[in-house]
Amino acid sequence: MALSDSLLDQVRNCGVVGSGGAGFPTHVKLAAQVDTLVINAAECEPVLVTDQWLTISAAADVVDGIRAVARQVGAGRIVIGIKEHYHAMIAALRPHLAGAPAIEFHFFQDFYPAGDEHVMVHDITGRIVPEGGIPLDVGVVVQNVSTMHAVRRAMFDQPFIRKAVTVAGEVARPGVYEAPIGMSAAEVINAAGGSTLDRFEVIDGGPMMGGLQKCIEDPVIKTTAGYIVLPPDHHVVRARKVPDRTALRRTSAVCCQCRMCTDMCPRFLLGHRIEPHQAMRGILAGREVSKDVMAMAWLCSQCGVCEEYACDMGLSPKHIFKLMKERLVAEGKKNPCHERPETAMEQNGWIRVPKARLTRRLGLASYLLPHSGEIRVLRDPWLVRIPLKQHAGAPSIPVVTVGDAVRAGQLIGEIPEGRLGARIHASISGVVRDVAGGVVTIERS
Ligand code: SF4
Ligand code: SF4
Repeated sequence: MALSDSLLDQVRNCGVVGSGGAGFPTHVKLAAQVDTLVINAAECEPVLVTDQWLTISAAADVVDGIRAVARQVGAGRIVIGIKEHYHAMIAALRPHLAGAPAIEFHFFQDFYPAGDEHVMVHDITGRIVPEGGIPLDVGVVVQNVSTMHAVRRAMFDQPFIRKAVTVAGEVARPGVYEAPIGMSAAEVINAAGGSTLDRFEVIDGGPMMGGLQKCIEDPVIKTTAGYIVLPPDHHVVRARKVPDRTALRRTSAVCCQCRMCTDMCPRFLLGHRIEPHQAMRGILAGREVSKDVMAMAWLCSQCGVCEEYACDMGLSPKHIFKLMKERLVAEGKKNPCHERPETAMEQNGWIRVPKARLTRRLGLASYLLPHSGEIRVLRDPWLVRIPLKQHAGAPSIPVVTVGDAVRAGQLIGEIPEGRLGARIHASISGVVRDVAGGVVTIERS
């Protein structure tokens, strides 16, 4: 470990952000003091195996990272939340867990979304994260298991410049590939043997929470978990192409108010005041939706359970909540919901979405990958396009100009003074060809 810097400085200097979700800067999370550290190793998006393959390939490093983070945040209890059938991952981690401080496993059955922070914290600690809150509000820090690998690298002053991503679906060689940040999705897919289809679409991330890749030339960033290549008429693709007007029209014509979407909503089950069927009823009635119902949009995690599993009518409360939230944000409204439920719903714990059945319903069962495998490391491409914003917070400020020679790992984007953000580094050695539109383009030397 570098001797001079604290872990916080090392993690900040190396630009580590959460590998799952919104890419929250890790050094900010590590500044907290809590009693419990939860490591999210439940990887529950169907088809993705990035966390599993990465952890198995570097289990000792991951555990080193966990111990360092636990010391930093002062956690007396360290728990790895993991699916009980991830046998290879458990076997890889177990030999490194001996000694102090104790690290325990919490085994989840195979349901979705076990990896939701709120669900995970409640199942492991019995505490309920408040509405609109974060685990820190109940004395818990949750870190993704792959982020622990990035933390370990930061302890040796190695910046976050490469990312492991699952490439699955209609490709010749599905698997997990390690790519430099800024490499295009098209190049990563080509490295996986290219698509087996003439025409295809790409899901950026998991099939439940990931979006449609807008442009195949868009780059891998720190939060990229995977690319799923699918036929253009695949259900998962079509669901993402439903126009807003169509979603609203369908709701007003078809919703039968069965309330299955509410009864299966993971946040409702934790006691949060979110009832998606009420949002649908608001649209059905054709009147202005009440303030209280609109406010539920702040509590939706966009997990997709209502859309992909609960609703037999093919409707999407998730889509409706997204529209409502966009409107609230455009109007400058803030989340008014901050209650902390005392207890979860009685049925929480037994109303769970089996991931295997969900995967079949999504039409993805034929694309499943094994739980372990060798990560293929990709060679540096000729060009990388590195966005200055790959994280929650403000974009970084470029500290290089056109014509500068840079080496891999060199700082190219600094956190704006006093703002939330993360540093950005060159992922290959070369010459800066462009700094425009919030992107630094580097050509390999
Ligand atoms: S599950 Fe579907 S049909 Fe039933 S209330 Fe929800 S949106 Fe309406
Ligand atoms: S996407 Fe649907 S199920 Fe998930 S939190 Fe939002 S309303 Fe609930």
